[in-house]
Amino acid sequence: MAFLQLEGLSKRYGAIDAVVATHLAVEKGEFVSLLGPSGCGKTTTLQMIAGFVDATAGRIVLDGRDITHAKPSSRGLGVVFQSYALFPHMTVRDNVAFGLRMRKVPAADIAKRVAKVLELVRLAQHADRYPRELSGGQRQRVALARALVIEPPVLLLDEPLSNLDANLREEMQFEIRRIQCEVGITTLMVTHDQAEALSISDRVVVMQAGRVTQIDEPYKLYEHPRTRFISGFVGKANMLPGDRDNAGQPQVRHAAGDGELTLSLRPEKIDLLEAGNGRLQGRIVTRYFLGSQWLYRLDTALGEITVVRRNDGSAPLAEGTSVGLDWQADLLRVLAADEVPA
Ligand code: ATP
Repeated sequence: MAFLQLEGLSKRYGAIDAVVATHLAVEKGEFVSLLGPSGCGKTTTLQMIAGFVDATAGRIVLDGRDITHAKPSSRGLGVVFQSYALFPHMTVRDNVAFGLRMRKVPAADIAKRVAKVLELVRLAQHADRYPRELSGGQRQRVALARALVIEPPVLLLDEPLSNLDANLREEMQFEIRRIQCEVGITTLMVTHDQAEALSISDRVVVMQAGRVTQIDEPYKLYEHPRTRFISGFVGKANMLPGDRDNAGQPQVRHAAGDGELTLSLRPEKIDLLEAGNGRLQGRIVTRYFLGSQWLYRLDTALGEITVVRRNDGSAPLAEGTSVGLDWQADLLRVLAADEVPA
């Protein structure tokens, strides 16, 4: 049995099915993200695990123990929300020590454990500061330290980085992953940011309208999205009409009209060649500079197609240029229809 198991976990609010029969098995030490659009049930799932929301049906089993209806305090899980909820009148050290004092841990042990965890989150030199004297990223580290110091079996993170600006956010993603690896703690994180989920998780759980629609390692999820929705939500995708060739391999259908299949082709998988070459002809309508890449929008007989090319330092293609598009046939992915209302 996995370390943390959700078995048919469901939550109903009146007529709203917030979470529908969710199954998930998280292994010890694993970092799993719940990813999905607003309102898909991510937070409700996390809140049921934390014990702040009571499940309507199903079970939550932690390390062999059924905790479905246990009090939050008896579960002893570490929780970090997007609002840091630090005590403003306490120093960093006291904020972190608070949970241990509540648990009546001897003072000498508290001092040792707080010092160790502040070292871990790289805040040892700021132990005597107050939250107002810290940056957003530093406050989030305090919140993390406060959750970790009680040495919980599972760490629950709800959009922990959404209050931070883009650069800091990326830095903190890697920090969270480093800390999680160092401590080896089983972690479940809620996010609506696909880049965040892909970059730091062992596995990603995609949720839609209260249901789990795919669970996979980040690379697998990106390269083999199961449905149209997932393909578009996890990264950018071109959706193309297709059918199967004589050997049964999917191919893009060039004739007008709907194909039998919906195919997905990632923008970075498309090469741009001189006009007249390749599988499809197009014209660059607009281009956007993304720093490390150029994003081109092209007009083609199959509609608008997005292409992303690495910025190798040479001049980009001009708007209005005619080009040929090419791709490896085995990078086309056949998508299933969406079984869940988006
Ligand atoms: P977000 O990213 O916007 O927080 P989410 O994926 O975390 O979204 P939830 O907060 O879990 O989604 O909400 C799932 C559904 O349950 C939504 O339709 C929401 O309106 C509903 N819901 C959540 N909490 C309650 C509540 N206390 N009472 C009634 N409906 C609720």
